[in-house]
Amino acid sequence: MTRIEHGVPLAKLTTIGVGGPARALVRPRTVADLVEALRFAREEGLDVLPVGLGSNLLASDDGVDGLVLRLEGELAAVEVEGAALRAGAGATNAVSLHRARDAGLGGLEFACAIPGTAGGGVLMNAGAYGRDWADILVRALVTTADGAGWLSADELGLTYRHSSLQEGAVVARVEYRLEPRPPAEIKATVAELVARRKDTQPTNRRTFGSVFKNPQGELGAGRMLELCGLKGHRVGGAMISPKHANFIENADAATSADCVALMVEARRRVHEEYGVVLEREVVFAGLPELPQLT
Ligand SMILES: Cc1cc2nc3c(=O)[nH]c(=O)nc-3n(C[C@H](O)[C@H](O)[C@H](O)COP(=O)(O)OP(=O)(O)OC[C@H]3O[C@@H](n4cnc5c(N)ncnc54)[C@H](O)[C@@H]3O)c2cc1C
Repeated sequence: MTRIEHGVPLAKLTTIGVGGPARALVRPRTVADLVEALRFAREEGLDVLPVGLGSNLLASDDGVDGLVLRLEGELAAVEVEGAALRAGAGATNAVSLHRARDAGLGGLEFACAIPGTAGGGVLMNAGAYGRDWADILVRALVTTADGAGWLSADELGLTYRHSSLQEGAVVARVEYRLEPRPPAEIKATVAELVARRKDTQPTNRRTFGSVFKNPQGELGAGRMLELCGLKGHRVGGAMISPKHANFIENADAATSADCVALMVEARRRVHEEYGVVLEREVVFAGLPELPQLT
């Protein structure tokens, strides 16, 4: 089997730069490698945690007692055929977008703001500027210890920042349906979206993207947190971003305990002020669920 690495810190595999060691880490390069790794996990009774760019992931300071998978090689490659873009689930959105632009295919521009991979995009049904994975995804090759099979976008049950992918299943490849668009137009749209992001979000800080999902109703999570006076609020090395209150920055050697304590406090304040229970967007690895609010 592909080499097993032990004790690699999740801090190195996540954009927030927080998290203790992974019990085991494997970097499958083909679907066969991936199935083999999933069989190994099943035999050893290990939980499986696929990690893309770790851009929506908060891992425990105590690490993750399971098998972490990082998809590389073929499972991170991108090819274009007609209006279809096929990507390994480990391919970064930046690379997919680049390839789409060079091929004169539009539709992925919104993903310029999402620093993740194709697989993470499916699992989270990631989205921005009114579009999400559900708008472009045709199908995904989903892998378990029993093998791999294609699921359509409908079968994946993509809704707001959610998919119904079963626990322990790993997306190996995706197929997007795009539409012809001149590369210069794509470039201009991307430049405009990136500039908008830079104005409103802490894109040059270590964060894990949105902390909470936007609740139904007029006020977004960020606005509520801001109105509660939480911008700049700190616990240890973690800080609610002064630029956008729905982001937590790793301001100074933050721990996951610091980040969780900030989330607990932020949620409590919003509940007290607005009666709204914010639901987390960030995925927890090796961490207990946030306490119930009544
Ligand atoms: C600055 C910044 C801005 C962001 N802006 C946005 C935004 O506008 N919109 C948005 O939706 N998100 C945003 N995010 C969050 C994040 O980029 C997205 O959720 C992204 O899709 C996560 O992809 P990833 O590959 O990094 O997944 P990870 O963070 O590595 O993992 C997230 C989840 O996906 C699972 N996963 C990863 N790969 C696979 C796979 N191959 N198969 C099955 N499950 C998998 C993981 O196990 C985990 O449960 C932002 C993050 C940052 C840091």
